[in-house]
Amino acid sequence: MDRREFLETSTVLAGGALLGGFQPQPPMLGIQVGAVSFVDEGTGRVLDGLHEMAAINTLFVASFTYGRGIAGRQLSSQPLPDHGRQEYDTATFRGGNYATPHPQYYRDTAIKPEHAPDHGAYDVLADVIPEARRRNMKVIVWFEDVIAADVPGFDRAREVVLTGSQSTFACSRNPNTRNFWLGLVEDYLRSYDVGGLMWGSERQGPLGNVLVTNHGGAGAGGRLACFCEYCLAAAKKDGVNVDRAREGYTQLAAWASAMSRGEKPVDGAFVTFWRLLVKYPEILAWEKLWNDALNDTYRDMYRRAKEIAPSKGIGWHVWHNNSFSPFYRAEQDYADFARYSDFLKVVMYNLCGGERLAQYVHSSTRSVFGDLVPERTLELTCDLQHYRAGTLDQLAATGLPADYVLSETKRALASAGPSMKIWPGIDIDIPTAATSKKTQPDDVYAAVKAAFAGGAHGVLLSRKYSEMRLDNIRAAGRALRDLRIL
Ligand SMILES: [Zn+2]
Repeated sequence: MDRREFLETSTVLAGGALLGGFQPQPPMLGIQVGAVSFVDEGTGRVLDGLHEMAAINTLFVASFTYGRGIAGRQLSSQPLPDHGRQEYDTATFRGGNYATPHPQYYRDTAIKPEHAPDHGAYDVLADVIPEARRRNMKVIVWFEDVIAADVPGFDRAREVVLTGSQSTFACSRNPNTRNFWLGLVEDYLRSYDVGGLMWGSERQGPLGNVLVTNHGGAGAGGRLACFCEYCLAAAKKDGVNVDRAREGYTQLAAWASAMSRGEKPVDGAFVTFWRLLVKYPEILAWEKLWNDALNDTYRDMYRRAKEIAPSKGIGWHVWHNNSFSPFYRAEQDYADFARYSDFLKVVMYNLCGGERLAQYVHSSTRSVFGDLVPERTLELTCDLQHYRAGTLDQLAATGLPADYVLSETKRALASAGPSMKIWPGIDIDIPTAATSKKTQPDDVYAAVKAAFAGGAHGVLLSRKYSEMRLDNIRAAGRALRDLRIL
């Protein structure tokens, strides 16, 4: 794409920016970064480096999680990158709130707000915000739906699975869960002068979990839930027959288990699956109930944030399964999101995306697409979602093309409407198997260019600075210079 084309397609410089003589708004150039990097490398040094390498103007600081996806150093299964402490933190990682929890905001939840003990009393927001402001960088609090199983009080917030036991996931409808997220929203906005908030939940409803229509293997998106007292009450209020829902999911779980063992029903996998949906529409009703609780969480967090700080942005990280499972994708309605979101970070990780798409293909071929060979499932997946990928045997090794980033960005912009910003998540060195695609500078260069060619309002380098190699970050800067954004 040349300069003229870029100016025509980019919303960054659209409208009055060029015609009216206003200063063009710089796009959001963001990176996800956790506390460990500031502790290990020095806050000023990290910020100066990010500015110099890729003109980063927005830091998405991992502030609450018990997961290693966005916090902590490199995973011990992967080589350490070319910066940071050259040792793994497997023994010391715990997670929690990497800032300081203020108890007054958590009075309405049983879940204990724990300060992450990983770095002693260190408060990542108190440390980073003044340093960022000095450099004209914005800090967005980045927190996610990942709570350790042994957090005190979490037992009063968990989902209940079909068979009656508790899962290790929080029920989004349980008031202890809802009030915990709202407490974090209020705490971050009142206790710190942050630039905005981003929250993410990489989970799906019971239908997708039974079908295992996701990457990452069985259980990666949650369980066959939720049948807790709050969800049963919501079902009754909506006129959904609880016993029929239980019976439908019991049969569906038995069907899924038969498919995964390689059984071939006479009428085929898809027809017998659909037959169960028609016999038990309560299966879909329960799936909707699960999504309603999550969407209500987004809405409530948005409302609370706007009450406290109307000018500050709040938005969501959209899970990668959005590009794989058409069932999950159908539930991520960007037009709906636009009513309670200032921005979406849509995950478009094309490099690890090959491995993940291949996982999804094999998983769904052992289930709802059991009538197809995996190569056909891949074609169907791409056709239904209007993007291209390579052949299945090469997919993990090559990743997805940058063209996938382009088409997903265009789609997001077109469905989101004018009010919501779209920031594609670009992957840099996200861990993959030894034989799978590894990030190279030219890949990052191509993905960043593709995002802006699609009209993105910014890009978010992901998942965490502590696993990225510096040359790959610099390649994002090179793309921005070639796009004349810098
Ligand atoms: Zn529940």
